[in-house]
Amino acid sequence: MHEVGIMQSALEAITAQAKLHHAARVERIVLRIGTLAGVDLEALRFAYEALAPHTIAAGAELEIEVIAAQAHCATCATTFAIERGFIFQCPQCGNYSGDIRAGRELGIARLEFPHE
Ligand SMILES: [Zn+2]
Repeated sequence: MHEVGIMQSALEAITAQAKLHHAARVERIVLRIGTLAGVDLEALRFAYEALAPHTIAAGAELEIEVIAAQAHCATCATTFAIERGFIFQCPQCGNYSGDIRAGRELGIARLEFPHE
């Protein structure tokens, strides 16, 4: 389950950010994850529940922003939604494109610290 490793590094980054902001705790964590990032969201939430209580993020609300995957067709300049895979067919002109423009996101979108 590589989601544990992902969450471990996220929590390390969050701890560093909290120190930078002189925050004693974190109120809300917003992660941005693309549908092509290869992350199981349920496993990620599970990892969060297991790991967060031992960190500065204890008690923080976890929100996950899911980014829909999109590819761009160079032939007709259309951006279209895609599912899993490597080569995608443009719904406008039928040409194939491997130019993925969204869906591989994996990271922290936003952190909120309490105003004390
Ligand atoms: Zn096209």
